[in-house]
Formats: sequence, structure tokens, C-alpha cells
Amino acid sequence: MYMVFDSMEAASRDELREVQDERLREMVETAYENVDYYREMFDEAGLSPDDIQSVGDLSKLPFTTKEDFRDNYPTGMFAVEMEDVIRIHASSGTTGKPKIVGYTRDDLDVWSKAVARCLVAAGVGPDDIVQNAYGYGLFTGGLGLHQGVEELGATVIPIGGGNTQRQVEMLADLGSDVISCTPSYALYLAEVAEDMGYDIRDLPLRVVIFGAEPCTEPMRKEIEERLGVTGIDIYGLSEIVGPGVSIECEQQDGLHIWEDYFYPEIVDPTTGEPVEEGQEGELVLTTLSKQALPVLRYRTGDLTTLNYDTCECGRTAVRMDNITGRSDDLIIVRGVNFYPSEVESVVLEFEEVAPHYRIDISRENNLDTLKVTVEVVDDFDGSITNLKNRITERLSNVLSFTPDELNLVEYGNIARTEVGKVQRVYDHRGQ
Ligand SMILES: [Zn+2]
Repeated sequence: MYMVFDSMEAASRDELREVQDERLREMVETAYENVDYYREMFDEAGLSPDDIQSVGDLSKLPFTTKEDFRDNYPTGMFAVEMEDVIRIHASSGTTGKPKIVGYTRDDLDVWSKAVARCLVAAGVGPDDIVQNAYGYGLFTGGLGLHQGVEELGATVIPIGGGNTQRQVEMLADLGSDVISCTPSYALYLAEVAEDMGYDIRDLPLRVVIFGAEPCTEPMRKEIEERLGVTGIDIYGLSEIVGPGVSIECEQQDGLHIWEDYFYPEIVDPTTGEPVEEGQEGELVLTTLSKQALPVLRYRTGDLTTLNYDTCECGRTAVRMDNITGRSDDLIIVRGVNFYPSEVESVVLEFEEVAPHYRIDISRENNLDTLKVTVEVVDDFDGSITNLKNRITERLSNVLSFTPDELNLVEYGNIARTEVGKVQRVYDHRGQ
């Protein structure tokens, strides 16, 4: 057995179920008694808290959505008084008010432990130096990762997002062996290091924990090769806790969900009905240990599948697939549906092209048009026309749709994102 932070990670499924059911009953009681939103939900469904005795009963309940958070802005979903809340975070929405989330002291403790489990699963130990390049502040990424590193007893460098030259200097001078950042930032870091005259592969850095943006398998490979590291995908969302809901172990074969804290279901995104085990659907999460903000059946908008087989690492905790598609990110152009990740996979297939791209959708004369822009590599000396034709053909095959325009630009022409999430899709329709 490999090392785990907490024996629950490898508990038998029966033992786990007992813990889940017990925690759920308590959570439902708390939510019903202290949150008007949940009391009304139960009353309208003709249910009482006693009807939810086990996680198997959850499907009796309606879903909670991001709209419910908005309707109860700012703190209507809280189950405790503000005097018991010791931290507030918020998740930025692209439209409207942010979702406000709060934590009691016990909540922060659970969150720290969840992140510490993640770090151990990623192969990080108390002797490691973790450079945390997630943004600090209202965003849960920075402080969430930070407290997990402290919980584990490793060394945290709270450098935050941006300041890329300093990031590189810290990697070199302090010998950070782990960095947490977005996948696109990891690549940018490699570029800046090169410009500064470092070979980033020669530095002690060996693990990149990336999150906050979807990352396809070819993109992971690119990061691993460019930086000479193991790339580990972490997952989380503020409404549930922040980063640390799940993470890949060193097997890189799905993300272990800490099921004694966060109970996962997969439903059909259209009907809301549970799908058969192993089928893809939308991830729905229920918190099992939150005091300030208990959340029942939250629709994450993330599409994935669950795998209940015991992992090679010895953990029994269920694994979810990497999220490469959010139901919110689905692009519909002239009636054809695709995810940005499908474009990404194609772009990464071509050695002549750098791993940076943007997708522009506009509407001209009532017709949707799709433009894809990619960069050629720095030392490209082949035929642009030939490359263009080959990429266009691959995109047509994968998307079942030919982009109206494929733009090849010189290396470095697509904007890099130093802070926050990278934007790759620009939808100009209706503007
Ligand atoms: Zn594993």
C-alpha cells in the first residue's frame, strides 16, 4: 500500500457507507433547521429530514443550482450565524453577483485535511517545498491550497498568481519541487524561464498540481515534457469547498473524490435522472461535513464518469474522469455542438504548432462563423499552406464541421494569462 494521509482514503466501501450515511443524516437535519431554502425544498417535495436516512435516499431530493445561490445572495444559504463563520470566499461569476461561501473553524479544518490528502496522493510529502501560484484573495484556490500544505507540514511559498520572472527565480533559488497553478500558466512559466536563460527541466521542480481550467491529455503531456514534471490534476469548486474535492494520484488514472466529505452522483444533464454506473453524465455533489454552508445535490455543470474499482494506489475512494467539458462550455455553431477541449486535442497533435489557441465565434448576415487561431512554433520553417490544410482537415474530422477560418500566427502572438483562468473562447454573437 502506498502512503495515504488519512485511513479513510482506503476504507472498505461498507465502512465508508456507514460514515457517509451518518454524516448525511446530521447534515440534512442542520440544513432543514437552519436554512429556509432547504426547509422550503423539503416541504414542497413533501419530505421530512427523516426521509433521508442514507445517501441512497438523496435522489428523492430536488437539485441545488448556481441560481439558488444567486437567489439567496449573499448569505441566505448559510446554516450558522456570522459570528461562527471565520472565513468568507466568493466565486466570481461571468455575469451577476458572485456566489458567497463561508466556513466555520471546523469547515476550514476539513478543507485543510482534504487538500493535505490531495497533496499526499500527488506524491508530495512533508519535506517538499510547494510554490503556490494560485491567486490569493476571495478566490478559493490560493488559501485553499496554502492551508493544505501547512496541514501536511510541507513548506509553502505563498507567491500567488503572476510575477512570472520572480516565480522562475524562486523555483531556481529556493528549489521548489512542487508548483500549483493553472495548466496554461505552467506552459507560460516554461516560456519565461527559457527567455531568462534557464532550462526549467534542470530545476528541482518535479510536480505540477494544476486546476481551475480544464486540461486535455495531450496538454498534460506537453506540460510534463516541457517542464520535466509529473502533471497532476486537482478539482474543486467554491460552492462545495474549493480545491480539494478530488485529485489524481500518481497513477494518473482518474481523480479520487474524498467521498466521506463530498458525496458524488452522476445524472443525465437533460433529464436529471441518475445514469448507469460507468456512464458519462453531470457530476452532482453533496457535502457531508460542512457546517456553515451545507449543500445538498449541487449541479456542478461538469461532465464526467465514476469508477468504483480500487485503484492501483490502494485507495478505495471513487475516481472521476478528468473534466474536459463543462455543460456550460458547450459551443454550438450552426447547430453543431463541440467542446473547446476537442479543438485543443487537435492543436496539440501537431508538432509544428505551439500549445496556445483561441476560438472566435461571430455572426455575420445571420450566419455563425467559427475562427480558430493557433501559433506556429518558434523555429517553424515549413509550408504554412500545407500545415493549414492538414490542421483544417483534422478539425473538420473531429468537429464534424469545417472552421470558416483557420489563422496561423507567429509564436507568441496569442495572449498568455498570468493571473486567473485563461480565456480561449470569444463568442461575439449577440454583442
Ligand atoms: Zn489512486
